[in-house]
Amino acid sequence: MAAQVNSMVGSFVWVEDPEEAWMDGEVLEVNGEEITVNCASRKAVVAKASNVFPKDPEFPPCGVDDMTKLAYLHEPGVLQNLRCRYDINEIYTYTGNILIAVNPFRRLPHLYDNHMMEQYKGATIGELSPHPFAVADSAYRQMINEGISQSILVSGESGAGKTESTKMLMRYLAYMGGRAAAEGRSVEQQVLESNPVLEAFGNAKTLRNNNSSRFGKFVEIQFDQSGRISGAAIRTYLLERSRVCQVSDAERNYHCFYMLCAAPEEVIEKYKLGNPRTFHYLNQSNFYDLDGVNESEEYLATRRAMDIVGINANEQDAIFRVVAAILHLGNVEFAKGNEIDSSEPKDDKSQFHLKTAAELLMCNEKSLENSLCKRVIVTRDESITKWLDPDAATVNRDTLAKIVYSRLFDWIVSTINNSIGQDPNSKSLIGVLDIYGFESFKTNSFEQFCINLTNEKLQQHFNQHVFKAEQEEYTKEEIDWSYIEFIDNQDILDLIEKKPGGIIALLDEACMFPRSTHETFAEKLYQTFKDHKRFNKPKLARSDFTICHYAGDVTYQTEHFLDKNKDYVVAEHQSLLSESMCSFVSGLFPPLPEESAKSSKFSSIGSRCKQQLQALLETLSATEPHYIRCVKPNNALKPSIFENNNVLQQLCCGGVMEAIRISCAGYPTRKTFDEFVRRFAILAPDVLHGGCDEVSACKMLLEKVNLKGYQIGKTKVFLRAGQMAELDAHRSEL
Ligand code: ATP
Ligand code: MG
Repeated sequence: MAAQVNSMVGSFVWVEDPEEAWMDGEVLEVNGEEITVNCASRKAVVAKASNVFPKDPEFPPCGVDDMTKLAYLHEPGVLQNLRCRYDINEIYTYTGNILIAVNPFRRLPHLYDNHMMEQYKGATIGELSPHPFAVADSAYRQMINEGISQSILVSGESGAGKTESTKMLMRYLAYMGGRAAAEGRSVEQQVLESNPVLEAFGNAKTLRNNNSSRFGKFVEIQFDQSGRISGAAIRTYLLERSRVCQVSDAERNYHCFYMLCAAPEEVIEKYKLGNPRTFHYLNQSNFYDLDGVNESEEYLATRRAMDIVGINANEQDAIFRVVAAILHLGNVEFAKGNEIDSSEPKDDKSQFHLKTAAELLMCNEKSLENSLCKRVIVTRDESITKWLDPDAATVNRDTLAKIVYSRLFDWIVSTINNSIGQDPNSKSLIGVLDIYGFESFKTNSFEQFCINLTNEKLQQHFNQHVFKAEQEEYTKEEIDWSYIEFIDNQDILDLIEKKPGGIIALLDEACMFPRSTHETFAEKLYQTFKDHKRFNKPKLARSDFTICHYAGDVTYQTEHFLDKNKDYVVAEHQSLLSESMCSFVSGLFPPLPEESAKSSKFSSIGSRCKQQLQALLETLSATEPHYIRCVKPNNALKPSIFENNNVLQQLCCGGVMEAIRISCAGYPTRKTFDEFVRRFAILAPDVLHGGCDEVSACKMLLEKVNLKGYQIGKTKVFLRAGQMAELDAHRSEL
């Protein structure tokens, strides 16, 4: 970060504070490496010189719309700028070409209306206030003018506003690329209406966000020669399956379940539904109603959106019938059966739900019961039917519910894609990525591992791009600069992905080997990576491991890694459902190709995640990227609260601080000749009178104060970190 200057008594500085992150104050005393600062809160703080940063004496009261315009580009300056803008509802700020968006947690309708879109149309970036529309406009223009595909990558932690920002981007692109008088279901309308459908089935209330997306999404919008939207494709990543049958306190299951329970009377009767409180998959958490949401209306709205995206009424009925079946399935409890270690539906109530689930899935009731309570074990020369005890049958039931739901979700995505259609002749596209941010919780399991791998990959892409962009700016201004190191996280990616020998490869191996347990897997990791810089075995841990991610250390609990990594359908479930009398249900479970059934080729979620990411990065690397970093200013999800430490943490995880660091390693402060002369003419007033041009005036000023190492570009003066403060110090000496 910016080099600190020799603070002088009386100058204003920022000093670190554990609670507020940074406090400003006046230097009272300088004693070698120790500086005493009198802070606004009237506390005198003694700090190390290296932890004290100069404060811009000319900081504009409303901040600046681009961090690179800050005279002092350092952490406290960045924070002060975001904060004072947030206070006046200026929630968007650029850092070079990254847009930072701080969630306002309040509606700001004027900011997003059609009039606003009209204004941003064709405006050059920087001309109007920072905005997602400006980013979308710039992507669209570049695509049209240069014929290069574009991508907009939106990231941030849960609740930071990624999905809301993504929807704005899509709205703007639909506005730019739509047909003036579109009749019926236009492509752009279908693209927009895919959002509520995917949210109904893929979003849920969590502790961190009332409308949390539980899947990642990349929407690729295709354009024809004349810049009109001609097709689109939606790719989704890693839907959280466990939520279907396991809901933590104060969270909810997927929205569609609650909507369906509030459907019109005839639907409720047909599917034998009722109060959500009566279903095990919903009542594990005592949370049902969302503020300001009317589930009955949501049900109808979702069906209308489904009409538009091309899911017909019969298919809609089938979808909700399957959702209802899952609820009934969850209510089937098991008790000990007559045989040793066997199980059977516990009572009449369980029997009723089993029967209803079978009816709704249109499969044989007895077959359903068998598929839940028994397992056929195929050995080399015979197959043995084995009973499952009540606990195992319950786990088996949940496995069935999860696979059905996840197939249903995939069906919806692929049907929307077929209905919107791809344009095989499309020359350019704009991709919008809305994907889960880095996660580090008290306990971290396989899901966090995959999510963090995703972020690691995207971070590498981001670093490389930011670095390249920086280099281009220098080249454009024709100034010399030597190679600047930046943190490359390739070593972490190797640790996770390398084939053979990386964590995913070892996990797949463990999954294929019948006697492995999470403990043997962990032991293998400890042995293999004992000298790896990015891998640690936490003290006292028996099966946990820590990865030193770019955004911080995360300790993973391996307990469910093996199970969660296995990607297969229980054979009994497969045969039950592929024989359903309902073609929709059997269509969700197409027969396995002969070969894969026999060779029992192992497929794993970890490897699939890795492959999907690889494909995504290939797509991205053929595009010009734009970045939006969403920031959640507080965990209370309330307006007007800006927590410094919380925000800083996110700026670090999102790579914003790293981007700033890269920039600081070069020439972070750039002032146009004109601005520079205006600010510093006071140091040598005669430069204004000598009739010399701006460039010579700048050079004279810089020589006068004997500054070294700066560069004069074609339009700007480039200063090294800390030099601005040095110049200001000269000014205040006058
Ligand atoms: P997740 O990773 O959990 O899906 P997310 O980053 O997608 O989180 P969003 O769902 O986009 O988060 O936003 C969370 C909530 O914050 C929204 O439901 C909305 O209430 C509020 N919000 C986000 N962005 C804005 C905005 N620009 N204006 C007003 N409210 C917003
Ligand atoms: Mg989201």
